[in-house]
Amino acid sequence: MKIGCPKEIKPQEFRVGMTPHAAHEAVSAGHEVLIETQAGVGAGFADADYIAVGAKIVPTAEEVFAAAEMIVKVKEPQAIERKRLRAGQLLFTYLHLAPDPEQTKDLLDSGVTAIAYETVTDDRGGLPLLAPMSEVAGRLAPQVGAWTLQKANGGRGVLLGGVPGVGPAKVAVIGGGVVGTHAAKIAAGMGADVTVLDRSLPRLRYLDDVFGGQFRNRFASAGNVAELVAESDLVIGAVLIPGAAAPKLVTRAMLGTMKPGAAIVDVAIDQGGCFETSHATTHQDPIYEVDGIMHYCVANMPGAVARTSTIALGNATMPFMMALANKGWRKACAEDRHLMAGLNVHEGKLTYEAVGRALNLPV
Ligand code: NAD
Repeated sequence: MKIGCPKEIKPQEFRVGMTPHAAHEAVSAGHEVLIETQAGVGAGFADADYIAVGAKIVPTAEEVFAAAEMIVKVKEPQAIERKRLRAGQLLFTYLHLAPDPEQTKDLLDSGVTAIAYETVTDDRGGLPLLAPMSEVAGRLAPQVGAWTLQKANGGRGVLLGGVPGVGPAKVAVIGGGVVGTHAAKIAAGMGADVTVLDRSLPRLRYLDDVFGGQFRNRFASAGNVAELVAESDLVIGAVLIPGAAAPKLVTRAMLGTMKPGAAIVDVAIDQGGCFETSHATTHQDPIYEVDGIMHYCVANMPGAVARTSTIALGNATMPFMMALANKGWRKACAEDRHLMAGLNVHEGKLTYEAVGRALNLPV
């Protein structure tokens, strides 16, 4: 199969759909890999890295889209990219169609077959192509939180790990799923005094069994949340209710109970955020202050570490990409219901219930 990987054109997107390792696997299996020139540069991969594994460098995105039978990307195709898609072509990337009627219409009109990373499933009820980005955002959260706490950034001037003779900072992580667990592990590793709050008792039991010595956990009752928020130097928001906006667990009034200069990192901001005072920010201008509390609410945190994120995403997408290339999408999806769960659009029809419901379109 001819597999094409264009350079991402969404503003501030530095990741790339195929790493040189992914290109190598595909070439080794007999596929032709076409990479747009400079596609990997934002993630630290030069054209020469792709050439070295047998991929071809193509000068323009138009040529990649025109030649490829399967397009592998990171972000949803932008308007100009959607014009280049055609019937019979396969698109494998993040799509997030439910809030995006324009993109959905263009994909339906193009006749393309589109498999969305975010709806591919696994045997444990997880979303294996979203998890790597949650791992990245979770591990980044204490790092950006520590930076936000620095005096020059408006924070309270507290070092997460303390020093000999000075106690560590207190960190509360609300939500103990993928983001929250990785955030807690790193914050504890930095020497902070960490407590994770979750409403799922099975999850709390798991965290206690596996991480009991590294961080504590508490049930996320309103009272416990209020108490931990008031006493913490850094509060990380990491809740998710699948398919719904994040619940506002920390109100503006609760900011008044916090220590002046304490920091909030609201990772759940891409679902609206779990702090009443959160609004989405960018890597260029990541923090702002409300009532003396510093807020960090970047909606695409993994973009800050584009190289790590690209490699992590590539590790997760590679087996699915290879199945699609080796077998064709029909056979690959027929043999793997989890990959089939990724099918969102085929030949002008929506094939994913929740997107149809959200956009009031037939499925
Ligand atoms: P997850 O499903 O693995 O974990 C969510 C956890 O929240 C679950 O353990 C659940 O029990 C818990 N929860 C639900 N309601 C709760 C409540 N009221 N109180 C306490 N806990 C509650 O999800 P995840 O992969 O960890 O993602 C968490 C959030 O981070 C999502 O909104 C996701 O979209 C977001 N995210 C953001 C970025 C970013 O760049 N900002 C990147 C990746 C993920």
